[in-house]
Amino acid sequence: MRFIKKKFLKLVENKSIIERYIFFTNLTILGLILLVPLGSYLITRNTLFLNPLHFALSAFIGLVQITLINQLFKREITGFFKSLAENLEIIFTKIGKIRTLSDVRDVKRTKEVLLKKFQGEPTFRHFIRKINALIDEILDVISLKVTKDEFLRRLTSTLNLQKLGRIFTKNLVRSFQPPAVALYLKDSGGENYILVSNEGFANLQEVLGEGFVNKARDMGAFFYIELPHELDYGVLKLKSRKLFVVKLQPRENQIIGFIFVGITSEYEQKLERLKKFLREVYTPLCLLFENALEHEKSLMYAKVDPLTGVFNRGEGVKRLKIMFRKAEDSGHNLCILVIDIDNFKKINDTYGHDVGDIVLKEVAKTIKNSVRDNDLVMRWGGEEFLVAVPNLPPDKVYDVAERIRRNIANLKIKLANVEIHPTVSIGVACTDTEKTYSPDELFKRADERLYQAKKSGKNKVVAP
Ligand code: GH3
Ligand code: MG
Ligand code: MG
Repeated sequence: MRFIKKKFLKLVENKSIIERYIFFTNLTILGLILLVPLGSYLITRNTLFLNPLHFALSAFIGLVQITLINQLFKREITGFFKSLAENLEIIFTKIGKIRTLSDVRDVKRTKEVLLKKFQGEPTFRHFIRKINALIDEILDVISLKVTKDEFLRRLTSTLNLQKLGRIFTKNLVRSFQPPAVALYLKDSGGENYILVSNEGFANLQEVLGEGFVNKARDMGAFFYIELPHELDYGVLKLKSRKLFVVKLQPRENQIIGFIFVGITSEYEQKLERLKKFLREVYTPLCLLFENALEHEKSLMYAKVDPLTGVFNRGEGVKRLKIMFRKAEDSGHNLCILVIDIDNFKKINDTYGHDVGDIVLKEVAKTIKNSVRDNDLVMRWGGEEFLVAVPNLPPDKVYDVAERIRRNIANLKIKLANVEIHPTVSIGVACTDTEKTYSPDELFKRADERLYQAKKSGKNKVVAP
């Protein structure tokens, strides 16, 4: 009996529900075929004779058997789906609680474990596979949304442009692994696009010429460019000519920057996910970058004279004090130049205040262009500027002052119907020659020399 049971179990185990159903049904039919002649023989002792009673008997036995099998089948099917429903409930409850990307990974693991046992059932393998794919798709959408939320939350943590840029590129690389990402935004002057942050690119500056910006105007928010030569992706040493570009344009005719994504042939499929993500965050991203740019500008305005673009007196004096301290600590020379526009009142009186403003702007620009980047230029007040030149011997500083004077004297400011030729007088004082590191003392000396320059005919430099 045990042997038969074992054989029987062997026949039915590892079979699908349908296969088992067919097996039992076949067994029933086989039983009927055997039972009917056997029954008739037992009753009539005649194998050929079949009376209605035999039919009724075999039909009854068959009915009972089929009913039993159907019940069994029903129980199995119900059990399967009940258990599946319970497991799906666990999975979807977890899905409902997803807040972070690690929650997504956790649900994925749970799902693999819970659905595994159902995958062994051949009849519903296809069905389970579909459910699996569906859950994967849901998780994919959720993970993109969670990535977006986490991403934007990180970005809103700062208004500092440099920091914001770094968070942006770092997180983009971490979440989507592109070979390289660079962010360019308009500088506070609003003229050039400057590199704010970069992950992986060796050099991109050459891409951002005037031609590129003009071409970008006609493009959609997302486009590709092909470079004339291959780009090196820094340490990765991957090479490609193709770049994916996102144009950051919060409003019509206002391109505030560009995101460049380096793509290799290996990355091209993955790019779709990144594109989908960037499309999702595009609007908030533009607004965040725009806010940071505005913030940068307002910080700049607090330091810079809005008319001339050079440092205002407050910021200038702050920086001048630091320069004095550094010069005194290192014993290096520091010179200051006090520059005053000649006969400026006359320019104002003759051509009006607006023209006076243009002259102030041009003079400031010329001063700035005549000195090095680490020299300090500030508007001291009215039509007076102060320049500080560190680490240069006094005779060389005289040359600098002369260059400023000459460059301004050569200025031809063309207006509607006049041409203005401004000149300046300059007084110079240096820590080396005056033997003092006192800013007030030095300023007094420079101012005295400026007065001498004015008295001796203007458009002059007076130095120690
Ligand atoms: P000097 O050659 O002796 O320096 O004579 P000056 O006329 O340049 O000097 P003065 O100090 O008599 O005049 C300076 C003028 O600069 C007076 C003032 O109205 C004008 N001024 C000061 N700030 C501004 C400004 O922001 N814009 C304009 N347009 N004019 C200004
Ligand atoms: Mg003056
Ligand atoms: Mg003047």
